[in-house]
Amino acid sequence: MPEYEFYCRTCGKPFTAFMHVKEHDVEVAECPECHQKKQVEKRIPEVSVFTTRKSTGFR
Ligand SMILES: [Zn+2]
Repeated sequence: MPEYEFYCRTCGKPFTAFMHVKEHDVEVAECPECHQKKQVEKRIPEVSVFTTRKSTGFR
């Protein structure tokens, strides 16, 4: 099961949670601090930053 990054706007804190890919498509994880989902948003993994940098030319 992959680990996803989330951010809770109520607590102002990022957190990670293990979810099924299909689950992640339709919903977000519950915040471990306030145990709510309403203000939780998905975060895009930073892996894509590295691939973009590589193609711009590294000295
Ligand atoms: Zn929270």
